[in-house]
Amino acid sequence: MVKTTTCEKKVLILGGGVSGLSAAYHLKLGEVPFTVIDALDEPGGNCRTIQRDGFMFDTGAHRIHDKDKEITRQVKSLLGEHLKRINAPSKIFDNGRFLSFPLEFQDVFSRMDKGFTIRAGIDLLKSRNRKGSRDDFEGFAVHSYGRSMAERFLLNYSRKLWGVPCHTLSPDVSGERLKSMTLITLLQNFISRRYAESAHYEGEFYYPDRGIGQLSEAMARFIGSGNIRLNSRVTGIFHDGKRIERIVMDGHESFGVDQVISTLAIADFIAMMRPVPPQDIVNKAKSLKFRNIRLAVFFIRAERINDAATMYFPADRFIFSRGYEPKNRSRSMSPQGMTSFVAEVPCFEQEWAWSADHTDFLSRVREQVVETGLVRDEDIIGCTDERVVNAYPVLEKDYKDNVSSIFEYLSRFENLEVSGRIGLFKYLWIHNLLREGQDTARRVAEKIST
Ligand SMILES: Cc1cc2nc3c(=O)[nH]c(=O)nc-3n(C[C@H](O)[C@H](O)[C@H](O)COP(=O)(O)OP(=O)(O)OC[C@H]3O[C@@H](n4cnc5c(N)ncnc54)[C@H](O)[C@@H]3O)c2cc1C
Repeated sequence: MVKTTTCEKKVLILGGGVSGLSAAYHLKLGEVPFTVIDALDEPGGNCRTIQRDGFMFDTGAHRIHDKDKEITRQVKSLLGEHLKRINAPSKIFDNGRFLSFPLEFQDVFSRMDKGFTIRAGIDLLKSRNRKGSRDDFEGFAVHSYGRSMAERFLLNYSRKLWGVPCHTLSPDVSGERLKSMTLITLLQNFISRRYAESAHYEGEFYYPDRGIGQLSEAMARFIGSGNIRLNSRVTGIFHDGKRIERIVMDGHESFGVDQVISTLAIADFIAMMRPVPPQDIVNKAKSLKFRNIRLAVFFIRAERINDAATMYFPADRFIFSRGYEPKNRSRSMSPQGMTSFVAEVPCFEQEWAWSADHTDFLSRVREQVVETGLVRDEDIIGCTDERVVNAYPVLEKDYKDNVSSIFEYLSRFENLEVSGRIGLFKYLWIHNLLREGQDTARRVAEKIST
């Protein structure tokens, strides 16, 4: 039987990841009462730091980018002296050696074997005269880098990361990385490293000294544990066609609401709505894919592997797409004299990597990590794994049409705001999500005051 709880809080925030916490943080600053609901036993969602056997690692390789000055100031005020400025390069692992990430032509042409360099150069020139479509990621990558380089460094990596063929992906999956790769920037990139340094998201970044989760923890502390309800799963969203009226949790507890901010995966939100939305909206929501990541974490008896912030592994023979050494973000991530290596294995729920038994999964990744030559088997003193759900919205070519139809339908609900990476189905970063949370809180506060 469904028990109805009178909710004295006016606003219910569904999801306590960075977006939900950011909205809550700003509502608290504005003295608007609210409750955050999350299914997990701690806040932070996909922005958490996990501790095991004296080692710490994040839910995937995280950095805080200094791209929005106001947000950076907020993060500084939340973390104070715990926020450090880090300068560590990212690298691409290619046949036993490292190239710079993002790919620099200078690097490729000076360090690869002659045969490949000539082929890549010819392909690059050909790609500039090619009339092919740039509406999909494959066409876009081939136009930017030429077929040989695109295949070797981008397309195989992207197939692994997103789990679908590259010609079905939107160019938006490249984020900021391939943007503005015109003939001029291309030439600049040959001559100097200026383009690479100015436009990409690598190199210098901020990082909390006890892991990315410190940011979520700091926001949650400010919000107050009394305003966050953990271990509570939203299972039903009831509406009257114009307003969200009730939220049901764990199948039996019902909350009446004034305002709702949802940061849940948009597909889950639509699936939980009662009455059920029109069939074409349900179908469009079902067609959206979310990619998970399973982490394989190895504890290592060695001072350091290398100095890279993140290592990219495009080759098909590795099931992991990226790896990182948490200690290169902060020394406190590993006990003294030790380090660790975290491999990210992208997968859908139906795939082996997601469902495999803990021992099978770890031993397969371990074999491949040792094969890279970066870590010696005998130095691995322990290992663990962790599942990161809904890590990435898969931006397929038709995603914008599907998402805009869904949001057009949702716009009729006057007391609903949607935020977050998987809520909005956008490839957003922490600084974008903090900004989104702030804007959402402002809109909700305005609605309440009118
Ligand atoms: C591997 C990886 C690396 C990244 N690296 C960077 C980086 O370097 N820099 C950067 O700026 N950003 C990075 N990001 C992006 C960013 O950290 C995350 O995308 C961000 O944390 C997402 O926040 P969110 O609040 O939008 O969603 P989420 O963190 O997914 O939060 C959603 C919350 O909703 C809860 N929830 C879901 N369903 C229910 C339900 N039915 N009932 C109740 N609760 C529910 C979940 O438990 C979760 O806490 C990275 C992300 C990943 C996955």
